[in-house]
Amino acid sequence: MSGQQTSMKHPLRTSQLMAGITQALSVQQNNVVYDMKAAGQDVITLSLGEAFFDLPLPDLDGLTTPGLHHYSHSRGLPELRRLLGKYYESKFALPVDPDSEVIVTAGSKAAIYMALMAILDPGDQVIVPEPYWLSYPAQIRMCQGEPVMISHDVPVFDFERFVTARTRAVIINNPNNPSGHVYTREELQYLHDLAERHGLLLIVDEAYNEFMPPGTDFLAAGALDPEKKHTVTVNSMSKNYGVSGWRIGYLIANERLTEQILKINQHLVTCAPTILAAYLTERFDDLLDITRPQIQSTVQLRNRVATWFADEGIDTMPGTSTFYLFVSLGGSDLDSTEFADRLLREHAISVVPGIGYGDSCDRFIRVSVGSESEERIARAVAAIRDLIESTTPTHLASRPRARVESEV
Ligand code: PMP
Repeated sequence: MSGQQTSMKHPLRTSQLMAGITQALSVQQNNVVYDMKAAGQDVITLSLGEAFFDLPLPDLDGLTTPGLHHYSHSRGLPELRRLLGKYYESKFALPVDPDSEVIVTAGSKAAIYMALMAILDPGDQVIVPEPYWLSYPAQIRMCQGEPVMISHDVPVFDFERFVTARTRAVIINNPNNPSGHVYTREELQYLHDLAERHGLLLIVDEAYNEFMPPGTDFLAAGALDPEKKHTVTVNSMSKNYGVSGWRIGYLIANERLTEQILKINQHLVTCAPTILAAYLTERFDDLLDITRPQIQSTVQLRNRVATWFADEGIDTMPGTSTFYLFVSLGGSDLDSTEFADRLLREHAISVVPGIGYGDSCDRFIRVSVGSESEERIARAVAAIRDLIESTTPTHLASRPRARVESEV
């Protein structure tokens, strides 16, 4: 066994930096689900970070963009940048120069990482309000920065006390995955003023911006800083277009920043997948026309499910947007990991433990209603209620409350 001897003499060394990073809890959970499904098990899947839409299969033959099989401009296809710029300018009052202020890359996950990498030196801090999207702290650490988490019960207007001499940025997700919270104009204005006062960057991840409840408009944070002095807007085709597997996301920032980010993009991925970016470019508006009604019914479903939980006396963190609910475990004596494990093992229902979204969130689970039928979601809500009830010590058990419409 000379191979083994060799490996014992020179054990593979991996970096301490990566040893300190854990897998993305949601992705890890979904890998278990994929394995269970491959083994023939029926799993009610409420852990996926995407909504399934009815979309036409792409007709790639009909595309007219040149160079479909090849690398494209590393800022992104010029026409796609122009359309994205127009989208933000006409819908959200954020003027964008597509030549210098947009970078398209392989998913917004990569865009966020590149933005962090462009601004952080070792030991720099980034403020991360909980519940956060679970890759933010890991990405900050991968850039040798230090995430400074803020418990979910701290109001936005108190964030200033977390700013230190080492703070470089604040990162928020608006609308928020997992709570569905949409930041108010006042909250966004406060964050802009904070950024201005302390020379911070405000990174705003708007991946779910189309997922607004009927009759409400989305306020893009960038509109409050049209010169982009301190704001990076990140967005994605994954959720709004329902094509998460295509890996196309983008960011909008001032030229000084995009010049740095462009270098990272060139060294890491070169460009987003050209043929898919070309398809999205050529069908930019048609595709949104197809997804928008489906987005609307998904958001409405989300808010109906919130009332089901309320009817059972189960709280959800306040929010109205996205297709996620952050569901309180009430008096259950299980933590969020134990709860999610038992739900999966005993009821074949997958959710994501709240601990993945911050230490202050271990009394919650994330439920996504984007990829299951209403009937199966209803079954899951009943199972979640039963598991909460059966794990709640009797002296803590309370009776279900009456339905409260205003909570959704
Ligand atoms: N931001 C948020 C808040 C997300 O939920 C996700 C995906 N779940 C992403 C960014 C990443 O999306 P993508 O890389 O597919 O653009």
